[in-house]
Amino acid sequence: MTTPLDILQRTFGYDAFRPRQLEIVEHVVAGGDAFVLMPTGGGKSLCFQVPALLMTGTAVVVSPLISLMKDQVDALRANGVAAAYLNSSLAEGDARDTLRQLRAGELKLLYVSPERLMMPSTLSLLERLPLSLFAIDEAHCVSTWGHDFRPEYVQLGELRERFRRTPLVALTATADDTTRADILERLHLQAARVFASGFDRPNIRYRVLEKTDPPSQLARFLKSHDREAGIVYCLSRKRVEDVAARLRAQGARAEAYHAGLSSAERTRVQDAFLRDEADVVVATVAFGMGIDKPDVRFVVHYDMPKNIEGYYQETGRAGRDGAPAEALLLFGLQDVVTARQLIEGDGDKDPERVRVELHKLDAMVAFTEAVSCRRRVLLGYFGDEAEVPDAGCGNCDVCLDPPEVFDGTIEAQKALSAVWRTGQRFGVKHVIDVLRGTGTDAVRKWGHDGLPTFGVGADVSADGWKSILRQLVHRGYLRQDIAAYSALKLTDAASPVLRGEERVTLARPRAKPPKPPKAPKRRSLRARFEAGDLDVEQELFDRLRELRRKLAAEASVPAYVVFTDASLMDMAAHQPRTREEFLAVHGVGEAKAERYAEAFLAEIAQRDR
Ligand code: ADP
Ligand code: ZN
Repeated sequence: MTTPLDILQRTFGYDAFRPRQLEIVEHVVAGGDAFVLMPTGGGKSLCFQVPALLMTGTAVVVSPLISLMKDQVDALRANGVAAAYLNSSLAEGDARDTLRQLRAGELKLLYVSPERLMMPSTLSLLERLPLSLFAIDEAHCVSTWGHDFRPEYVQLGELRERFRRTPLVALTATADDTTRADILERLHLQAARVFASGFDRPNIRYRVLEKTDPPSQLARFLKSHDREAGIVYCLSRKRVEDVAARLRAQGARAEAYHAGLSSAERTRVQDAFLRDEADVVVATVAFGMGIDKPDVRFVVHYDMPKNIEGYYQETGRAGRDGAPAEALLLFGLQDVVTARQLIEGDGDKDPERVRVELHKLDAMVAFTEAVSCRRRVLLGYFGDEAEVPDAGCGNCDVCLDPPEVFDGTIEAQKALSAVWRTGQRFGVKHVIDVLRGTGTDAVRKWGHDGLPTFGVGADVSADGWKSILRQLVHRGYLRQDIAAYSALKLTDAASPVLRGEERVTLARPRAKPPKPPKAPKRRSLRARFEAGDLDVEQELFDRLRELRRKLAAEASVPAYVVFTDASLMDMAAHQPRTREEFLAVHGVGEAKAERYAEAFLAEIAQRDR
């Protein structure tokens, strides 16, 4: 009898299931409904693909994104699985072909858009066919509480009653309880077993840098990721264009992507990225939803995101293949002000909505301010911090290089009294001018050069004061009044500090890249190979990548459909010489061995030339 592990190894070329995958597979194969909560990159697809291959009949997979559907089907076919898709992008002839295969029972998996599935003709056809299961991917799209509601998803609620004997699996990476409960209710899955796997993504290194000189901070970061695939998120289209142009001028294979571009251009950029013809995509958040590229090695946030949900989802696009990846966030005080203004809008927004969004922004800011393990802060937000040891994760900037803290009581008192003495009517810049004794026009106009606090902070740089003021805001001693041009105001919490009854511990700002950490530093794959860490020859790895690029271009599929980085690394490390050895490589199943063993073995054998 074929077991789930047989399928995993022979078809997908993986050695072992990840946590929870096997349980889910077995539950579904036994006919149960399942609600699967896993972070992006956690391995949700196998939870329905493996059952689909073990069970009789066709599995129907609902997926919201047309581009994703095609890529998933391509990837399945590359593994020798009979899969096809139906959606509005398909030419009529191709759709007819798919329907014929479906009727003939030739398909193990059918991917379908929700609107196509719920068409009466599709439903009545499916009712007459043997189905193995229904899988609803990105199930949060059914909930108005989710961050990506799609009205077409609502009708999917009928499936549970209409196909009583077919198991139904809903899958999502959504985090909050309200949305989770709403999904179960709308899909009529209250009786389903819930499988929640941890939300940690241990292979992603989280790093936050205060923005000082973002262009050179980015350039320095990219140097450590030479020729690796990555995404740089910016908040505005203009910023996207500027950053992409600058990276190109620096010689990077970078492309811009945002909703203002033609759809042909957007498709071109996506394809170039998937086929390894572009390394870096600079994008607004519009990019990524439809991208299923497992070997993205880094994600940079050039501007601060508005909430942790979005941030975690975006960084989750890095390192889906499980190999080391990095997430870098650059943030500045101005970002917080801009985000607040965007959220508050021009006053005609639902106040409840504004309150929720401001709250989410505060959580985001607190993350950037964290002086304890970043991963604990992130997972704590998702109620999952128990996954990280008390001592920290060992793979974030704070753990690797704890920020220096100092007794900032005196500095805090100086800053708070400067705010008080200037009448709580001025923003950060003016308060810093007063503290540092800078006689600007405004300072003179208001007579602030005559205040006792004028110049008491000349020993600290302007950036230093900025960091101190920001920490005081986020610790709740000061608040910024958006309605009054971001003027700084004291809160009740400030009094004990001013009276000398409370001490304040502050962190030194981290403007420069962390000092060489005690734990092994995450270097570029290239550097790791060169150092012999991975026991891989960089030269061979490069040639394998080039071969992959060629084969992918010939077949018009994304590069990872041929092999992921993780597979190529394994190949370069073990240098298989025979077909048997090739089959042992990570991600090589029977179909891929059949198709690619010859070409890759030849490339590997060439090393001795
Ligand atoms: P999700 O849909 O949860 O974001 P995917 O299903 O796309 O994640 O899986 C992410 C990556 O991890 C894919 O490249 C997938 O092939 C790989 N993967 C999933 N399960 C395993 C496993 N058990 N062993 C090795 N790789 C796996
Ligand atoms: Zn940590």
